[in-house]
Amino acid sequence: MKAVRVKEYGGPEAMSYEDIDIPSIEGTDVLVKIEAAGINFIDTYQRSGLYQIPLPATLGLEGAGIVEEIGNEVSHFSKGDRVAYTSVPGAYADYASVPEAKLVHIPEGLSFNEGAAAMLQGCTAHYLSQSTYPIKEGDRCLIHAAAGGVGLLLTQIAKMAGAFVIATVSTEEKAELAKGAGADEVILYSQVDFEEEVKRITDNQGVNVAYDSVGKATFEKSIDCLSPRGYMVLYGNASGPVTEFNPATLGPKGSLFLTRPTLFAYTADRESLDWRSGDIFNWIVEGKLKLRIEHFFPLSEVQEAHKALEGRKTTGKVILTP
Ligand code: NDP
Repeated sequence: MKAVRVKEYGGPEAMSYEDIDIPSIEGTDVLVKIEAAGINFIDTYQRSGLYQIPLPATLGLEGAGIVEEIGNEVSHFSKGDRVAYTSVPGAYADYASVPEAKLVHIPEGLSFNEGAAAMLQGCTAHYLSQSTYPIKEGDRCLIHAAAGGVGLLLTQIAKMAGAFVIATVSTEEKAELAKGAGADEVILYSQVDFEEEVKRITDNQGVNVAYDSVGKATFEKSIDCLSPRGYMVLYGNASGPVTEFNPATLGPKGSLFLTRPTLFAYTADRESLDWRSGDIFNWIVEGKLKLRIEHFFPLSEVQEAHKALEGRKTTGKVILTP
């Protein structure tokens, strides 16, 4: 089968499109024929070595497809089922071996592209808004990179919960998308000081929660946007990792909370995975949550896909098709 492999950490050119063996399965494993693989920013961290993984590796943490074969201990999936999953490596390929515990069925009416787009970014937007900081009606939320994959979903879910959403994006085109997702105010953080803007918009009250996936470039100012006892949710490093921080500063700034959550910890058990993916799928089917899937790349053009994502050229979901 074809797969995208990384042997040494590096830029997009570190990925090669190769022939490798179809993965073997045993016990509770399921062999999935991938119809759509989701591209996520974390794939770029794994490729570059910011997040270290055992090499050589097949990249890709999200896929949707058809069950091709099941191990002899699999009980809830059968050959031919339409399935999706996240948090298992190896989705940038024609086939992936996925533990049954990580698979969910794609509901009728949803495509493979939608199945793939819903899992990693959808479940992330779900846990950030329902569990890390459960958004309440009337909360003021700051959401960075709001036209991105997670950003567009998180903005919509925050609005569903009744929040006032202040979004940041880098371009006018992205600003339109963030407004379309329901953002009440959109700041072009590439052009203006977002901290000053947040203070102006909130009459110096600040926000109850800042969802920051940009990291290094925004972290300190995001903290300064919080109201007393506000939540700083640092969940990504698109501009680089935050490496230095003195927790003592959280006190005088208003007894603030700081967390660095990951999807893996919030979908580790079957109950959490079913709850989060089930809500996301239902909201999509009911028309409450809109996916934006605009960027498709063949598996063989994965380097271009990563360049586009890291170059801030994409909005919403980026899909790889084997
Ligand atoms: P996005 O589609 O959001 O792409 C990243 C966006 O970040 C860009 O479009 C860009 O938007 C913004 N950005 C700001 N500064 C930079 C920079 N220097 N270089 C590149 N992009 C920049 O990606 P995803 O939806 O896949 O992921 C969003 C973030 O969420 C990532 O940081 C990812 O690691 C994190 N994440 C964390 C998870 C967790 O559980 N902790 C799970 C899933 C994602 P703009 O041009 O508007 O600034």
